[in-house]
Amino acid sequence: MASVLDSREALSQQIAQVAEVASYLWQKGWAERNGGNITVNVTPWADDALRALPAIAGPFPIGTEVPNLKDSYFYVKGTGKRMRDLARRPMENGAIIRVLPDGLSYEIVADNPVMPTSELPSHLAVHDWLIRTGSPCRASLHTHPIELVALTHNRKWMDSDAATRMLWSMIPETKAFCPKGLGMVPYMLPSSTALAKATLDTLAKDYDVVMWEKHGVFAVDVDIMAAFDQIDVLNKSAQIYLSAKAMGFEPEGMTDAQMKEMSVAFHLPK
Ligand SMILES: [Zn+2]
Repeated sequence: MASVLDSREALSQQIAQVAEVASYLWQKGWAERNGGNITVNVTPWADDALRALPAIAGPFPIGTEVPNLKDSYFYVKGTGKRMRDLARRPMENGAIIRVLPDGLSYEIVADNPVMPTSELPSHLAVHDWLIRTGSPCRASLHTHPIELVALTHNRKWMDSDAATRMLWSMIPETKAFCPKGLGMVPYMLPSSTALAKATLDTLAKDYDVVMWEKHGVFAVDVDIMAAFDQIDVLNKSAQIYLSAKAMGFEPEGMTDAQMKEMSVAFHLPK
């Protein structure tokens, strides 16, 4: 079947990256059933021919107003779709949508009329905020990383500073590759507007990765691979912490002086 990806090498690479990340999420056990979501702002790759495509479904209301996303294009995971299926067939388990000029509705333009995730309003609200604030981030990822979620079952680690410091101190690369740390959001009903608002508020406090208590992670970055990498390095630190605890001792962690040395050497913001 013909695909909008056929003649568009750069857009194809973006979607291939989404599929690759989806396969990692499944392999890591972070994406049971239809768990997790991916949205990528693909507007830079929407050429005139793609912009001229008629809708194959819609218009539908977004459920929120996104004035900074008028005439923008997104790849969005489909509602009820599984990451492990998306990894093999991204255009059958997700779709490319166009936000209409009213900033209130969208239509599906390719390849199939796959309805977007129910998280579309909260994801688009984040993308709208990213554009409004001049952020270079264009991809958002929600997933269920096992060890990071386990940490949130302990009050002690629901403090952003405490959790970030511990994770940074497990291995030097974590601070270098997730330099803003981990913002914590207390438990709220999944898909609720309260959770969406708390997520935006935490991103605005200068975090790229937000942890939802007893649920999962929401991350933004320049592309979907970079968003995955930030979660991956943080979860690796949580795994090292867990491994030390499983060996029967509290891990020592890097000292404050060693972490400060990292910040100076690599020009890190915190
Ligand atoms: Zn979830």
